[in-house]
Amino acid sequence: MLEIGNKVHDEARQGEAYAPANVGVRQFNKKFYIESYGCQMNFSDSEIIASILEEQGFGATRNLEEADLIFLNTCSIREKAEQTVRKRLSEFRQAKKSNPSLLVGMLGCMAERLKTKLLEEEKLVDIVVGPDAYRSLPVLISQADEGQKAVNVLLSREETYADIAPVRLNSNGITAFVSIMRGCNNMCSFCVVPFTRGRERSRDAYSIVAECNGLVSKGYKEVTLLGQNVDSYYWRNPETGEDVTFAKLLEMVAGISSNLRVRFSTSHPKDITDDVLHTMSAYENICRYIHLPVQSGSTRILQLMNRTYTREWYLAKVKRIREIMPDCGISSDIIAGFCTESEDDHRDTLDVMEQSAYDFSYMFMYSERPGTLAAKRYADDISTDIKKRRLEEIVSMQNRLSLESNKKDLGNIYKVLIEGNSKKNDQHWMGRNSQNKVVVFPKEGNLNPGDYVFVKVHDCTQGTLLGTLI
Ligand code: SAM
Ligand code: SF4
Repeated sequence: MLEIGNKVHDEARQGEAYAPANVGVRQFNKKFYIESYGCQMNFSDSEIIASILEEQGFGATRNLEEADLIFLNTCSIREKAEQTVRKRLSEFRQAKKSNPSLLVGMLGCMAERLKTKLLEEEKLVDIVVGPDAYRSLPVLISQADEGQKAVNVLLSREETYADIAPVRLNSNGITAFVSIMRGCNNMCSFCVVPFTRGRERSRDAYSIVAECNGLVSKGYKEVTLLGQNVDSYYWRNPETGEDVTFAKLLEMVAGISSNLRVRFSTSHPKDITDDVLHTMSAYENICRYIHLPVQSGSTRILQLMNRTYTREWYLAKVKRIREIMPDCGISSDIIAGFCTESEDDHRDTLDVMEQSAYDFSYMFMYSERPGTLAAKRYADDISTDIKKRRLEEIVSMQNRLSLESNKKDLGNIYKVLIEGNSKKNDQHWMGRNSQNKVVVFPKEGNLNPGDYVFVKVHDCTQGTLLGTLI
């Protein structure tokens, strides 16, 4: 397994067809089917799209056969992600043949990256909509209904969909994602996100708090605040001039209810401040877990990647996190085989992983993306065989670190939020501790998803803590 699923980029959920949590609450004459790919931002956007479409009388379905509209919410982060979507698209050919009025729409990052080229390359596609243009979907659908191809890939400096209450899709009713910002200004040289999602903008803090309040009143127990770089969240109240930083926002959300767990993702190492760390440690309900992607452990490669920190600076940040919160879980993203990466650079990456003692990581082979700074400046000169071998070494290092980290938890007692049945055994509950580790334990007594319980860990695998209720 090259990418260990956690909540932000869950391999198991790629291509998942979405349907509302409360099936049958409203009846709709027209139906849309949506599959989401890529990072959690896309899954969260699909919930905004569902809300926009419901207003227009379209209900979500998980059954392709009854759909009037098919949407793929796409990802461009690596070439493989785009290939997966293209392959999936070709599978809709038959559905379109048997129902010529069926409309097919490409949404998200791939739509933004390829624009009208997508219509030329994929004749099946009727609608192309970028991440900032979802409000125009109803107009584009009518246009496509009349037989015209419909495209809107305009990026915006303001759009945050702040006023749209997302329709929760495929929800367990316990945990939810809340978008707090969009876009990214960082320009890491390997990354296509600044081109597909545009400039960074932060959402009105009070609309975020209102959304979280709404979730609490529906019984949700955990929110994950989402953004490409949450630590650079910054919103100024236009009426009062009040400044809201990410630390302040965390405080506002954590203050809603001590029963509501707060998580966030992703943190760029350059932006996470002591303020954020102190706020985390001050609130029991802000989870002790930080996703802090390093990308590479070599200062030379980090410079080429335009990550703006050195290996020493990164390691000092990890040390600082553990000084302030000794029990904080840390995870990472790592890229193997970036342009010019030598064996020494690769060993530096393995060394940073070991020193940081990550609980888990997402690990990728470098994939050159057209239009990025790296594609323009540097040759993609590491062979696939070498990338593969280095990735395997990174994965086996992470496997060892994950197991070591879990073994350290044996005998510990954790507060666990029950999310549902264990996948492998419905006589066991599955939940997470504050550090975002999956905890599985036998069912006892009268408990339900959404309950907090205390579990003593007595065994573990590389990916799971096994325990019993106390
Ligand atoms: N904004 C987040 C950050 O900076 O950490 C995450 C952005 S991206 C959606 C998730 C991860 O994909 C990145 O952290 C990086 O490891 C990986 N990634 C991005 N571009 C890539 C590329 N061209 N090839 C391989 N992996 C890539
Ligand atoms: Fe991409 Fe870097 Fe922005 Fe993350 S911080 S989305 S890796 S440019």
